Amino acid sequence: MKLNVGAVCGPGGSKKNKTGHWRSFRPKVDPEACNGCGICFMYCPDASIKIVDKICIIDYEYCKGCGICAHECPRDAITMEEERK
Ligand code: SF4
Ligand code: SF4
Repeated sequence: MKLNVGAVCGPGGSKKNKTGHWRSFRPKVDPEACNGCGICFMYCPDASIKIVDKICIIDYEYCKGCGICAHECPRDAITMEEERK
């Protein structure tokens, strides 16, 4: 039986399934406030954050805009803005 669930399953499936267009709100990082602590990286459910040179970088191809990173950031370095499509 073939299932049509609209998902890309199997090895590498989550990499192929770019979920950034699902987003209604976009996290924006203030590089002056971010100290690269990595807390947002640990909480992001979509593994869409990396820390480069002590700054949080968001991968907008996969970020779904859930806002967890903004909620957890101890320095209020991330704000959620309405996505413009
Ligand atoms: S939690 Fe905040 S301060 Fe820490 S890396 Fe993320 S954005 Fe920067
Ligand atoms: S908004 Fe959600 S999915 Fe996007 S970077 Fe923050 S925690 Fe990750």
